[in-house]
Amino acid sequence: GIDPLNVCAIEVQADKDARVLTLASGLDDALFEHDGQLTKREVRALTLSALAPRRGELLWDIGGGSGSISIEWMLCDPAMHAIAIEASAERAARIARNAVRFGVPYLRVVEGTAPEALAGLPVPDAIFIGGGGSEDGVMDATVAALRSGGRLVANAVTTEMEAVLLAHQSKLGGTLTRIDIARASPVGSMTGWKPAMPVTQWSWVK
Ligand code: SAH
Repeated sequence: GIDPLNVCAIEVQADKDARVLTLASGLDDALFEHDGQLTKREVRALTLSALAPRRGELLWDIGGGSGSISIEWMLCDPAMHAIAIEASAERAARIARNAVRFGVPYLRVVEGTAPEALAGLPVPDAIFIGGGGSEDGVMDATVAALRSGGRLVANAVTTEMEAVLLAHQSKLGGTLTRIDIARASPVGSMTGWKPAMPVTQWSWVK
């Protein structure tokens, strides 16, 4: 029997397959359903840190991909709001599935192309640009839509997008960070560093 005065002695057997989520941003990539379009764990953690979520705030996640940035934003607190804008119908559906799997089904998904799809959305406290930033009018629409004092974070993996970010930083200020990550992985029977594509991140407060 169970000694009611010694309940601490009851051991909870953890289910090996249970999805017990850490409270920190930068969840394991494998927890997300994705097609390769996913901000990888280490970069995602740094991106959430730059987005600096505050309780109750609204994020626009432009080029939502698999939804990992919006989902981690939502997981910060039950009062968070996020809108993921994604041009691909297949990926928009995937974002919604991931949101359900992570227990944040109220993440709003807008299937559409920025900047057109941004029109009429509620004013955001923070914006992340993970895709579409080098397309005509996207950066301008984003800078204009952000509330005063809000944060804008944009990641570039292509040189075209990097050029856009360098130009914006020289015009508006803010911080440029280069994120170079390598993971150790098998090379034959040995181990070597497998570099990910470097990411240039621009972070700006309006
Ligand atoms: N941060 C995402 C990955 C983004 S991949 C994650 O962690 O899951 C970039 C995405 O931007 C792609 O899914 C692509 O379809 C989308 N995209 C590109 N241009 C876009 C545009 N103009 N409007 C909306 N989405 C766009």
